[in-house]
Amino acid sequence: MIDMHSHLDLYPNPLAVAEKTNECNSFTLAVTTSPRAWQATSRIFSPYKNITVALGMHPEIVQQKVGELDLFLNLIPKVKILGEIGIDGSTRNNGNFQLQKKIFVTILIEAEKFGGKILSIHSRGAGEIVLKNIMKYSKNSRVILHWFSGTIEELKMAISLGCFFSLGPAALLSRRGRELAAKIPLDRILPESDGPFAMVNGKSIFPWESKQIHQSIANIHKIPERQISIQIKKNFDRLNES
Ligand code: MN
Repeated sequence: MIDMHSHLDLYPNPLAVAEKTNECNSFTLAVTTSPRAWQATSRIFSPYKNITVALGMHPEIVQQKVGELDLFLNLIPKVKILGEIGIDGSTRNNGNFQLQKKIFVTILIEAEKFGGKILSIHSRGAGEIVLKNIMKYSKNSRVILHWFSGTIEELKMAISLGCFFSLGPAALLSRRGRELAAKIPLDRILPESDGPFAMVNGKSIFPWESKQIHQSIANIHKIPERQISIQIKKNFDRLNES
């Protein structure tokens, strides 16, 4: 089982969740929200071989974390995966939109200097600007759009740019979520939980539950779940190639 986007350090009992995640999942990407959180989380999760901690700078808290940008840039050479990074275009984050954009672009440019990275990207309400910057700056990075919720046009652009899409059970709850998912090529889909924030029936989703999307995707495409599982494993291997 694979979870490409989990806030593993933010569950009420992170060590117990990490322990079980490490047992149940062959790979879990623990995204972080700031470089200091990456430092602490990397230390705490270092015994767990099936958990990789991604270096993050969450767009919704850039105002508080902008002082850590230099630290972030200095840590880039040490990691293979960056996330959660991106831009949030929600009204409540309008006030720091320019700052978000500046930080996102700075990170994309720096990542290219080291041959590109795997990027787990937040693009809520900002699909177009995120994709334009990926097109401009991220020639060598492999992009995973996490919980993509953009327009059909933006989806087409993302597909043409070669992006992967990490989808979780919560993203497939709404009809719109399933409609978007139906338009994503099967060879670009990866599972995520986005827990503990993402919830189903009022309960946080755990990393070992991200596999629920296999059945949902199988239903959407009317093909056996086993075929989806095989495809997702292939997608994961391709993401990690090169
Ligand atoms: Mn997230």
